[in-house]
Amino acid sequence: MEWELSKGVLESMSECPKCGGDDIAMILWGTPKFSSELKDKVKQKKIILGGCEVSRNNPELECNDCGFRFSK
Ligand SMILES: [Zn+2]
Repeated sequence: MEWELSKGVLESMSECPKCGGDDIAMILWGTPKFSSELKDKVKQKKIILGGCEVSRNNPELECNDCGFRFSK
C-alpha cells in the first residue's frame, strides 16, 4: 500500500466537525510500507495506523483533540 498517495487528504483537510479542532491525523488502513518518514508522521500524530481490516466505510481522519473519526 502506497500511503504517499493519501497525503493530499492530510494537506487538504480543515478541521474536526465535532470539536472544531485543527489537530487532525490521517488514519492509515491496511499494512503500509514502514518508512522512516512514516514512523515520524506516526510519532507526530499526523498519521494513525488503523489496523489491517480495510473496508470501504473506514474513516480517513481522526481528531487528536477529541478522538472523533470522520471522512472528508
Ligand atoms: Zn475533535
